[in-house]
This record gives sequence, C-alpha cells and structure tokens, in this order.
Amino acid sequence: MQYRSLIKGSEELSVLGYGCMRFPTKGNRIDEEKALEQMLYAYNEGVNYYDTAYPYHGGRSEVVLGKFIKKNNIRDKVYIADKLPAFLVNRQEQIEKYFYTQLERLDTHYIDYYLMHMLETMESWEKLKKLGILDFIEEKKKSGQIRHIGFSFHGKQEEFIKILEDYPWDFCQIQFNYLDEYNQAGLEGLNRADELGIGVVVMEPLRGGNLAAKAPDKAIERFHEFDKSRSAAYWALRWIWNHEKVSVVLSGMNVDEHIKENIRVASETHPNSMSDEEIKVVDDVKEIYRSLMKVPCTGCNYCMPCPFGVDIPGTFASYNDKYFFGGRQGQFMYIARAAGVTSGEKVGADLCTDCGKCEHHCPQTIKIRDELKNAHKDLNIPVVRFGMNVAARVMNRRKK
Ligand code: SF4
Ligand code: SF4
Repeated sequence: MQYRSLIKGSEELSVLGYGCMRFPTKGNRIDEEKALEQMLYAYNEGVNYYDTAYPYHGGRSEVVLGKFIKKNNIRDKVYIADKLPAFLVNRQEQIEKYFYTQLERLDTHYIDYYLMHMLETMESWEKLKKLGILDFIEEKKKSGQIRHIGFSFHGKQEEFIKILEDYPWDFCQIQFNYLDEYNQAGLEGLNRADELGIGVVVMEPLRGGNLAAKAPDKAIERFHEFDKSRSAAYWALRWIWNHEKVSVVLSGMNVDEHIKENIRVASETHPNSMSDEEIKVVDDVKEIYRSLMKVPCTGCNYCMPCPFGVDIPGTFASYNDKYFFGGRQGQFMYIARAAGVTSGEKVGADLCTDCGKCEHHCPQTIKIRDELKNAHKDLNIPVVRFGMNVAARVMNRRKK
C-alpha cells in the first residue's frame, strides 16, 4: 500500500480508501459477517481510511463501521470520514443532532474527516452558513470532536470553485475518472484545490462500477492488447493515481477479488508513473467511448450559464451515458435533475427557449438547441417524470 497526506503535515492515509456505501448484503440488510471480514482484509493490507455517511445503507453503514473498529480495537490506527447530511438540514439544531447521532452510531468520540455531504451549489453552502455551520465547525474543531473539515461535491465546476474559495477547507471530495476529466469539478477543480492547499479525495473512480462491469468490448480489447492481466477497473484506478494531486481514492468494495485487485493497483501506481504507451491506451479507450457518444460535449462549460436554467453539459452527460453503458441510469439521472430532485432547481432541456445564446460559445460547434431537443425526447419518460415532479415538490416544501 502507498500512503499520501491529504492535508500538508498531517497523517499519511492509504491511497485506497474503503467506501462503506456498498457493503455486501443479504436480502435488504448488510451481510455484517462478510463486511467485517472484507474490511479486516483491507485493513491488514494497509487500508486506513474508511468513508461513510449518514444515509448509507439506511444508517447501518456507520454502525457496521463502528463495530469493525471496536471489534479489532483499532480506533487509533484508522481514520473515519463521515458526512453531515446537508440536504436534510433545515434548522440549526439539526446540525448537532445529526452529528451526535453519527458519533453514537460509530461508537466513537471524534470524527477525523467530516464533510458537508453533497454540496451542489454555492446556495447549498450559503444555506448551511445561515444555519450556523461556521460556529459549529469552529466549536467542534476546538473540542477535538472533528479533526478536519471538508465537503463532497456533485455539481458544476463554477459552483465547485466558488465553494472551494469561500472557506479555508482542509479537504474536499470530488468525482474524477478518465471519463469525467472535464465534468463536474474536473481537472480544473483538482488544480484549483491544489493551488489553495486543499487536499482532494476522489469518489466514483469507476463511475459506480460502469467503467469496469459495463466497459464496451472494444475498450476491453484495447486494454488486453497491452496486458491481459489488467482489468478495466485496474486501468481506471491507475489513471487516477497517476495524478499526484489526488490523495485518496474511494472504492465501495464488496467482492473479494475486487478488493485484492484494488489493493494491487494501489500498491503499484506511483504518481506520474504511467508510461506514454499506457497513456495512449487510455486515450484510445476514451476515443472508443467518444465514438459511442451521442453529442461530442467535453463538459467545458463555456456555454454556461444558460439564462433559462438549462444544465447543458449535464443533459449531454446523461444522454451520452445512456449510450455508453446502456440501462436506464442515464435516463433516471436526467429526469431527477430535470425535475429538481437533486439540487432543488429544475435544469432540464425542456426549459430551453431557443434563444441561441449558448451556441456562440461552444468550441465543439454543437448545435446545442437541436441536441437538447433530441436528448429530452430520448431521455424523458413521462410517467417517471411525473413521479419525480411530485418527489421534488415534497422535498422542496420540507426544505422551507
Ligand atoms: S438556446 Fe436554450 S440552452 Fe441555449 S442559452 Fe438559450 S435557452 Fe439556454
Ligand atoms: S460549450 Fe459545448 S462542449 Fe462545452 S459544455 Fe457546452 S455544449 Fe458541451
């Protein structure tokens, strides 16, 4: 195992972090015996960073992680990352309530790395500030109940930079992989965090497993042409650890062979160690994905913001995902965001008024208006949209 510091001058963390959001299950419940066995295996192989969150496994993830640490008497040897469910917080007193519930579930007196979970916009961070989060952080850091503070992010790059620059964060957590180099926070976000001295944890290295289990045949062929023993997951992880500005990469692991393989890549990949030939393999695979793309959008964001609220790159990302990976995931993501379930704001292509402003800015000369219409027609499922609209209304009413 290799180790990198997430925060300058602070402890060394295993480059592979254990994501506790996908424990093995039996029916609807966590298979605790198996989960404890797998975590112990990873621990013995040097993994010392364990990432959980309030809603994972309906609240049981924190409990099982707490049991693992207690059973093996290793509280002083591992680092716990946990997250305030920011999207559920509407009143000041809830911040403390969630935090103490988490300490109780984890059976610990302190959390090493505490994140604001899933900030998507500056507005979501402003909301927490109005509810007194800054006093909470100061007090908890002073008392030692929180050692380091950060936020996890899914959203547009400009929002990420705003949140990043607004507070002296110790670290942040972003989605980053060879297909998302220019999506969400992206490479630019990674570089800005580094400039500000803010450590970066990477999540979704395999895009929820899609870059491994659902990689197209042609991509697998290209990977195997170089080396038959390396899987698609191996390449995806290796590409991330090749970036020296990344400290920890989280993987939600529940299959023994995957854990072993992840540990192998984590041990073998040093920063900037990929050869030109290897980089060419990944570039070729990106090209294979690009050939499956419906719209050649790079996620550069130059077309944004749309004055009518359309998330143009987000819509195209969902549209492409449908053709990269098959299944309904891209469609459900699009509909949820279009209905305003994720950020509270509707951002679907159906908001487009045809004003044409965005098209002047697109370096790929995409006919954005036409493609938005195509995307909406292809992704929208009316009955699902109706359900998501209702869900968004209920959630937004609760927030008020
Ligand atoms: S054409 Fe549509 S997507 Fe583009 S800026 Fe105008 S409203 Fe927004
Ligand atoms: S400017 Fe073009 S390539 Fe860039 S995000 Fe917008 S649509 Fe995509």
